[in-house]
Amino acid sequence: MAEISRRKSVAVNVGGVKVGGSNPIVVQSMTNTDTADVQSTVNQAMALARAGSELVRVTVNTEAAAAAVPKIVDTLNMFGVRVPIIGDFHYNGHLLLKKYPECARALAKYRINPGNVNIGKKHDDNFRTMIEAATEYGKPVRIGVNWGSLDGALLTRMMDENNRLAEPKDAREVTLEAIVVSAIRSAEAAESYGLPKDRIILSAKVSAVQDLVDVYRSMAVRGDYALHLGLTEAGLGAKGIVATTAALSILLQEGIGDTIRASLTPLPDGDRTEEVIVSQQILQSLGIRSFTPQVTACPGCGRTTSTFFQDMADQIQTYLRESMPGWKTRYTGVETMKVAVMGCIVNGPGESKHANIGISLPGTFEEPVAPVYVDGRLSVTLRGDAIVAEFIAILNKYVDSHYAAVEEPVTV
Ligand code: SF4
Repeated sequence: MAEISRRKSVAVNVGGVKVGGSNPIVVQSMTNTDTADVQSTVNQAMALARAGSELVRVTVNTEAAAAAVPKIVDTLNMFGVRVPIIGDFHYNGHLLLKKYPECARALAKYRINPGNVNIGKKHDDNFRTMIEAATEYGKPVRIGVNWGSLDGALLTRMMDENNRLAEPKDAREVTLEAIVVSAIRSAEAAESYGLPKDRIILSAKVSAVQDLVDVYRSMAVRGDYALHLGLTEAGLGAKGIVATTAALSILLQEGIGDTIRASLTPLPDGDRTEEVIVSQQILQSLGIRSFTPQVTACPGCGRTTSTFFQDMADQIQTYLRESMPGWKTRYTGVETMKVAVMGCIVNGPGESKHANIGISLPGTFEEPVAPVYVDGRLSVTLRGDAIVAEFIAILNKYVDSHYAAVEEPVTV
């Protein structure tokens, strides 16, 4: 794994998952179902957890949603899915946490948005009520500032103060500073209301890559709170994935960030688990954590005119991802395995030798044979219509013989 010097932060226990300190960077996600619809929310939370989400957030926006939370947590437990469920509160969290104590108890963490919990008030009683609920039920909170709902009164005050300066800063600078100040001051207020630092996580999300980098760099040096990292409203498709990857990679490389989420916009009926896979892939591509064996595949070119090798690379990647939940329970270290599926002789044998297992498929005009390399040595040459199945059989044999069995807990 890459040697990245992590910023020092105070570890927070979120329902058994440790965030911050020297713990691995945690992948999290959020459902987009109506939380009051228990069945849909359970199904999606399960899918997210099975894809590898280590924390799952649900919106708690109405009384029906608050009433549904304990049922969701119980049902997940019943199915053996122990992923901690986090409640996302805006505007009315202080009311819901008070009126629905079972919801307050069932959640593993509360997300509080300081920009909209005290709207129209000169005091922060609502924020304080939520912190007191967290203290009473022994829960951590995430104080999550979002520039789309930044505390308007704070921003106005800071803009006014800036205007009075002999050399005022530009509006962007003041806005980004207000985001950081909102997060830090809210955390300090939470501590003053009795919530210890090891139960506070901070985030300050914006939707532009360079703004996010500036905000988190600034926040990282102003305290040792654990940080939740994410580019908010990242968007659809390639834009959302690339913008998220660009922003998070810069910060993670600098050691900033203890838990991450990719806020992608799925297509209607799209697969919500994509955001989990993107987060995992960012961490794995940076060499920070391994989740699933990686497939190296060439882009293809005029030397391979059929789509066979793309299809095969896709089938192998899917096979590896789908096998991982089972493999994880039986083998240790299999997630670090490297597999190569290459399109022709130019880079095929070389790249295959660098992988644990690699196959070099025949390009146009090459003899229709596919040498397979295992640990850098030619192992066998495949040919015919069953290449994919035979390659998968070799993969399975390799996994079984090269990765240690998961240790059973000792019972006395
Ligand atoms: S390995 Fe062969 S097919 Fe793949 S990109 Fe290189 S030259 Fe093209």
